[in-house]
Amino acid sequence: MTVPPSAEPAPFHRERVLCSQLAELADRQLYRRRRLCESPQAPLMQVDGRTLLTFCGNDYLGLANDARVFETFTRAASDFGVGSGASHLINGHSRYHHQLEEALADFTQRPRALLFSTGYMANLGVISALAGHGEQILCDRLNHASLIDGARLSGARMRRYRHADPADLRRLLASTGTDKATAMILSDGVFSMDGDLAPVPELAQAAQQAGAWLLIDDAHGLGVIGPDGRGTLAGFSARARSTPELQDPFEQQQVPILIGTLGKAFGTFGAFVAGSEALIETLIQRARSYIYTTALPPAVAAASLTSLSVMQAEPWRREHLARLVHHFRQGAAELGLPLMPSVTPIQPLLAGASARALDWSHRLEARGLLVPAIRPPTVPQGHARLRISFSASHQIADVERLLEALAALPNTDHPNKEHRADAS
Ligand code: PMP
Repeated sequence: MTVPPSAEPAPFHRERVLCSQLAELADRQLYRRRRLCESPQAPLMQVDGRTLLTFCGNDYLGLANDARVFETFTRAASDFGVGSGASHLINGHSRYHHQLEEALADFTQRPRALLFSTGYMANLGVISALAGHGEQILCDRLNHASLIDGARLSGARMRRYRHADPADLRRLLASTGTDKATAMILSDGVFSMDGDLAPVPELAQAAQQAGAWLLIDDAHGLGVIGPDGRGTLAGFSARARSTPELQDPFEQQQVPILIGTLGKAFGTFGAFVAGSEALIETLIQRARSYIYTTALPPAVAAASLTSLSVMQAEPWRREHLARLVHHFRQGAAELGLPLMPSVTPIQPLLAGASARALDWSHRLEARGLLVPAIRPPTVPQGHARLRISFSASHQIADVERLLEALAALPNTDHPNKEHRADAS
């Protein structure tokens, strides 16, 4: 952003410019503020001094405050201390990190997995290690910011195809000049703000034909979707296997790069990339956000191992979550609320204007419910929404309370008719 010239000393002048930019954000209903939480992740939380029923986190399986996960965490911290003390390539790579990588490779049915300190860093590191100047990257329009930022950092030319639209992707691929090889196709598996699934088998086919990498970021699918919670790709594979008449069968290994995060369904912190031996060894040599940063605390890796085994041993968590989502969609459809076509625990209600989303969020908060408004630039202009999300630790009675509060909101007519969806 350019700063207009001024007679003031530069630092003061620049601060004044910041203040006027902040005031402008507030005028446009786009100012973001944080809340102070004084209790663990759970449906009922102490937030800004009040007890609120929350429908906004990503602790989909209710493991962030699970006693067994916590017990492993404290035991590992007493064995290994709090900090890892160094990067993985120096002396920060502990036995727990190693075991977790092996367990994640097994869970995702891939030869290797590599831990990163966050999902944001995983995406920056992987994309910039594998694509560069003179190449192009094709992105779904609604991809998570970390995929977009990774593409920008790589120096490749980024182009965006229409959301979840393989035909538009093919159109872009066909219009590529010979001088711009397509290095990568990037997509969320479950879209973080919409909750819908990417058309992964079609993306895989397009990537194969173009000879490009396909990276799927399944931050919101792993643990939640597919057989044993093995994620969106495993879900598509299972569906293809049970539908033998499909013309183009799909195996999840057709997606060579899978990103997962540990801060959501795992209830802990961190992220990983799963793929081939050569891919992982290349990332260890080249991914700068892997090489030049401190490894996760070993106790976090140990806790993630426990949450991985709990999520596999307790399928009731996914089953209960699916019941909550179904109950919500049925109730919301009966109320004529503007649902989006999602079958995942992310169930946004489209408001359109930021002011309307904020108004809805404030009204819910007045009734003791926390559902923050999501506004641009997180979502496109005119698509502000309430991002409602469910966790296995919610009860049906919580969903009933939410529906009752939503029924009392004003102006819930659908702001954008093409998004209207039926309960499913
Ligand atoms: N990818 C997606 C799709 C996400 O939704 C998020 C987090 N919201 C991330 C990556 C970043 O993960 P982390 O929070 O571990 O940095």
